[in-house]
Formats: sequence, structure tokens, C-alpha cells
Amino acid sequence: MTYDIAIIGAGPAGLTAAINAASLRKSIILLEKQNSVGRKLSVCGAGRCNFLNEKLDESFYNNAAQKLVKSVFGQFGKNEILEFFDKLGLKYYSDQGRFFPVTNQSASVLKVLEIWLKKLMVPVELGFEVVEVTKNKDGFLIKSKASQKISCKKIIFATGGKAYPALGSSLSLYDVAAKFGHSIITPVPAAVPLVVKGPFCHFLQGQKIYAKVKCVIDNKMTAQANGEMLFTKYGLSGTAILDISEEASIAINRYSKNVKIEVDMVPFIDKEKLESELTKRINNGFNGEDLIAGILPNKFVKVLKDLLEEKNIKALPSVLKGKIFDVLGTRGWNEAEFTSGGINTDEVDEKTLESKLIKGLYLAGEILDVTGSRGGYNLAWAWASGYLGAKYAANA
Ligand SMILES: Cc1cc2nc3c(=O)[nH]c(=O)nc-3n(C[C@H](O)[C@H](O)[C@H](O)COP(=O)(O)OP(=O)(O)OC[C@H]3O[C@@H](n4cnc5c(N)ncnc54)[C@H](O)[C@@H]3O)c2cc1C
Repeated sequence: MTYDIAIIGAGPAGLTAAINAASLRKSIILLEKQNSVGRKLSVCGAGRCNFLNEKLDESFYNNAAQKLVKSVFGQFGKNEILEFFDKLGLKYYSDQGRFFPVTNQSASVLKVLEIWLKKLMVPVELGFEVVEVTKNKDGFLIKSKASQKISCKKIIFATGGKAYPALGSSLSLYDVAAKFGHSIITPVPAAVPLVVKGPFCHFLQGQKIYAKVKCVIDNKMTAQANGEMLFTKYGLSGTAILDISEEASIAINRYSKNVKIEVDMVPFIDKEKLESELTKRINNGFNGEDLIAGILPNKFVKVLKDLLEEKNIKALPSVLKGKIFDVLGTRGWNEAEFTSGGINTDEVDEKTLESKLIKGLYLAGEILDVTGSRGGYNLAWAWASGYLGAKYAANA
């Protein structure tokens, strides 16, 4: 049989596409290489699933994707995504603009999607790893690693990116898309901890502080964030670092540029006030190691030993408010939340998500070069692009 639509990848984008296409009464099939659907969804937001954000617009995405994102959210934005989940029966709440299921469990989001797949009798082929797709006069022929074959009139690629390979991410459909003539913006890990030079972090491993961090590329500041920063055995992590890691990763992995992270470890006090506080302490006869007591955790005495012993009143505030770390790389795909890069968005119709190069091929989710900020933006993109891709594939 030839299906109306075959959807490859049962992540958030593919699941939404399948539910929408099946509601539109098309004969569809959902193909997934893992033995269960939505593996990555089940770990989202540390198992809590931040599935959307109140402030949803293109400014929270990479520049290259903004035209496409604007068009997609213009048709299926925050209200439509919430309506979609209302219909599925998911109850949710918003915490400082971030939406979560009331159960605080990603499993609940996955469960309602699975229930609707069943209700709509969507055939799901698990353990079906697509390795080849060819176009013919009737549509497409799909081949799996185990040489099974499936024919369809329209096809949706929703196979995600490369982040977290243990949960099913793969390279294979980038290759298939490239064979169809699509250009692939080199995928690099994003929302990923960084590896830095020197023993500073190693000595502080496990220590969290509230910091202001800046990404400096070839001496130019390109991104900054405030928030929790975590020192690890190999470098820097925590939400503030994850928030600026994409710029660092692109600069290193795509352009071999020199990247530094500048950290204000005491953002609650300005430099002059810090200098006068330290001077006051020295004048009051404080020991070197007590100079930062109550300003930074005690563990810092070890890494700042020389400066504290010297009571170096000029160097100390500069280091505390602008410690520089040379970045050696990222922790790689195994620890990345998102992929930056993917299929070039210029090659996709902004309204329909159909490939401009291959009629009948639709692209949805993280496989495209669309990267949102942390805060529910990547899932928002997956829901919206999956829903619309299916709508247009069904109506074309
Ligand atoms: C630890 C972690 C936490 C995250 N937390 C959040 C969060 O709280 N909020 C947020 O917005 N985003 C979060 N994300 C990002 C979010 O999970 C992704 O952006 C989203 O899952 C992308 O959806 P997708 O459907 O495009 O791809 P995926 O979820 O990657 O799904 C793609 C599916 O395609 C299948 N597949 C791949 N290749 C093939 C093939 N050749 N044949 C058949 N099947 C194939 C895969 O097995 C997979 O099931 C998080 C990511 C990680 C790793």
C-alpha cells in the first residue's frame, strides 16, 4: 500500500505531525528507529518538561531561522499550541513564563500524545531506522536498515538533531536531505557545558555561584547571561553557561576561533564598592584568607591564595569581577541539550515547511537549522512545525 503521508521520527515534532495528519483523515505511518516513541521528550526539563513559553516569537531563535519561525508562529503560535494540548487533555501551569505540565512530569506530556496516537489508530513502526529515501513519480520509497520498504505520497522528516545520541539522535537524515540537494549548516552542540584551561575549576568542582558570564570571541563580547554557574572537574556548567554556550560552540567548532568566558563572580557589588570593602578589611587587620569571607564561598580561598596572601587590592577586584577562562571546547553531543545547525531554512517554504527543492518533502523540528533559547522554545518549535508540516502535507 502507498500511505498518504509517512512521518519519520517519533519525537515531539513527529508525534504532533502524526496526530494532526491522522485527525485530517489521511492514511499515515509513523516510523521510529527506537523501540519506543518520544525518548528525548521524556527527559526534557530534567524530567519536568518545559514545553512552551509565554513570550513566544522569533527573537528567541537564531538569526538565520527568524523569518521561518515568524511565519510558523504567525499561523500556529502560543495560543494554538495551548489549544492543541487542551484538546489532548494535558493540564499545565506557567512558572515565570515557562509552561510545565501540572504533574511536573514529562511522562504526562508523552502519555497524552500516545493516547491520541492510539485513539486515532496511527500505525507506528518501532525499530524502523530509515537509511534511504528515494523519490519516484508517485511519491517516495523509504528503506530501513533491515531492508523493509514503505511507499508514500508525501513525507515528513522529523528526525531531530544530534544532541543526546543515547536518546535516538542520528545523522542519517542529514545525509538523505543532502542527497536531495539540501545544504546542511554544520551541526554543533548547544546548551552544553564548556571545557576550560587550567586548574581553577578543578579545585572548585561542585561549587555553584550566582554569576554574570560573557562569551568573548576574538576579543569581542557576543553573548552574556546572569544565573547559576557550576564549577566542574573539567570546566564550567550551570544555566548561565548553557545559555551562552551556543555562541562558544559555533565559534570553536565551525570557525576554529579563540573563545574566552569572562565571569563576574560577585555581580551583586560594583568594583569601587568591592575595592573599598576589601580596603576596609585590610585596614581592620583581616588575614589574607578572610578578605573574601561572606563575599564568596570559603572554597575560593584555595584558588585565590596568592592574591589573598599578597592582599593585592588592585588585582583582587579585577579577578573577582572579571575572571577569564580560556575555552578548550565543549563537553560534546552526549551532554548537549540542543543542536545548533541542520537543514538550511532558506530551502524551506516559510508558510508550508515543504522543501523548496523536493516537492512532497516536509521538514519539522530540530532537523532544521532552528535553535531556540532555553525556556521551552525548542519544544515550541517542534510542536508548531510538526503540526503545520502535517497540515500542509495533508492538504497539498
Ligand atoms: C536533556 C534534554 C533536556 C531538554 N529539555 C528541554 C526543555 O525542557 N524544553 C525544550 O523546549 N526543549 C528541551 N530539550 C530539547 C528538545 O528535547 C528538542 O528540541 C526536541 O526533542 C526536538 O524534537 P524533534 O521531534 O525535532 O526531535 P527528537 O526529539 O530528537 O526526535 C526525533 C526522533 O527521530 C528518531 N529518528 C532519528 N533518526 C531516525 C531514522 N533515521 N529513522 C527513524 N527514526 C529516526 C529518533 O529516535 C527520535 O525519536 C531538551 C533536550 C535534552 C537532550
